[in-house]
Amino acid sequence: MNGHHALTPDAGGQGMTSQRARDRLVATLRSEGIKDTRVLEVLRTLPRHLFIDEALAARAYENTALPIGFGQTISQPWIVARMTEALLESGAPAKVLEIGTGSGYQAAVLARLVSTVYSVERIEELLRQARRRFRALKLDNIRTRHDDGMLGWSAEAPYDAIIVTAAGELPPAELLAQLAPGGTVLGPFGPPSEQRLLRFRADAGGHLQREDLGAVSFVPLLSGTR
Ligand code: SAH
Repeated sequence: MNGHHALTPDAGGQGMTSQRARDRLVATLRSEGIKDTRVLEVLRTLPRHLFIDEALAARAYENTALPIGFGQTISQPWIVARMTEALLESGAPAKVLEIGTGSGYQAAVLARLVSTVYSVERIEELLRQARRRFRALKLDNIRTRHDDGMLGWSAEAPYDAIIVTAAGELPPAELLAQLAPGGTVLGPFGPPSEQRLLRFRADAGGHLQREDLGAVSFVPLLSGTR
């Protein structure tokens, strides 16, 4: 990613985590096809460097995925922006369920744009760190749960939209059952080597229609908790 070179003049300084670095990232996202100004504005203001380890903070505004421990990654800013945009295109969802809290960054982006985000993560330590970030940023409209997200979060269902941020073959049936009428499911699905970003929306007859939004690369959706 050439974002790294764009940032080198600031090496060692505060600039690596500054507003200028975020402005440059947003310019990149815009040039790579992100159009929703609400989404761009959230990425311009939300401090992504607070969602990764301090040792990697200097790379926070590169348009790249970064490791967050436990073999997991914080998604690339472009994919976070694209998925958020694709979710908002289907109207204004009030209640959104996210599967795979990870660093918490995607949940935080959504929290600025919808009423309530429900986010489920299977790795307890990642969830603990994400919750701390939500508190620090006063994002009090994010509810979290330590569980196998393939089961969804039935007690709080139905959801206007469900966003899956780890890759499975198909959206799990339990998740689809927790979708409100007319709701949207979005996530990376398909065989491991052929992941596609798919969006499922109900047509007038209530049948889920599948839209292919392009090739993506995500860590796998795994069952159980740890
Ligand atoms: N949305 C995250 C992306 C993290 S990567 C972010 O913005 O940082 C995907 C995450 O999904 C990982 O943290 C992984 O542990 C989690 N995950 C994988 N399978 C899961 C499952 N069945 N239930 C809940 N979380 C799951």
